[in-house]
Amino acid sequence: VLQVKDLHKNYNGNAVLKGVQFDVDKGQVKAVLGPSGSGKSTMLRLMALLEPADSGEIHLKGRRIGSKDHKGHTLHLPERQLAVQRQEIGMVFQRFNLFPHLTAVRNVMLGLTSVKGISHHEARAQAMDMLKKVGLENRASHFPSELSGGQQQRVAIARALVLNPSVMLFDEPTSALDPELVGEVLEVIERLAETGMTMIVVTHEVRFARRVANEVTLFDGGVIVEQGAPEQFFDNPQHERTKKFLSHVH
Ligand code: ATP
Ligand code: MG
Repeated sequence: VLQVKDLHKNYNGNAVLKGVQFDVDKGQVKAVLGPSGSGKSTMLRLMALLEPADSGEIHLKGRRIGSKDHKGHTLHLPERQLAVQRQEIGMVFQRFNLFPHLTAVRNVMLGLTSVKGISHHEARAQAMDMLKKVGLENRASHFPSELSGGQQQRVAIARALVLNPSVMLFDEPTSALDPELVGEVLEVIERLAETGMTMIVVTHEVRFARRVANEVTLFDGGVIVEQGAPEQFFDNPQHERTKKFLSHVH
């Protein structure tokens, strides 16, 4: 359902992505591991159309998306059209990025009313439904500052899900949380995986990756070093780099 082809990205002449290429099938859960600074967040930001690639292509459901063509020329997609494409790709960040002046339910409603143009009444109903799915129906009128980190992250997940994306991208969704709050967020993500949602999860939670993912990828130096089924990846890694990385996280 998602294809990434030869993605390159430089910051100030510094190559961060050096030709990233992979496919994600419908319903697949892909876990991405890799050291700090290897380009994992950059890759997700490009896929979420939050910034343009220098070159390369992203295809979603067979259609080219994004604002650059394969030679890096800007396509001048109207912002409106990019916003529509972005709805298809849900993104959850390490820090929850909720609007502090809006209640939980308002945070979840915002994309529905502003981008999808759904009525306030209907948006509230859909947002409440989604908050229920992440176990927060009784926190709907709380502001972010009145919620724990784990609850805020679950609101952020609900906000992405309510737009009915084809793919969900998670960027270290639990690494900013106190240890006792990690479980509730992983549980929501795991349940989402069970519903058949296609997702890419950048994570340091090796046990979670092993249990939930059906493909694990090691990312290093702006390229994919190794990918494979969890058993293969963890028990019988093929590359020295993977063995070294796993020896540090186990
Ligand atoms: P971490 O595990 O620490 O989150 P990461 O794998 O997500 O790391 P990125 O955040 O993608 O790594 O960063 C990769 C490299 O790109 C880093 O060297 C970083 O400093 C650089 N970089 C990322 N975003 C920008 C930016 N907007 N401007 C300049 N450099 C950037
Ligand atoms: Mg990162």
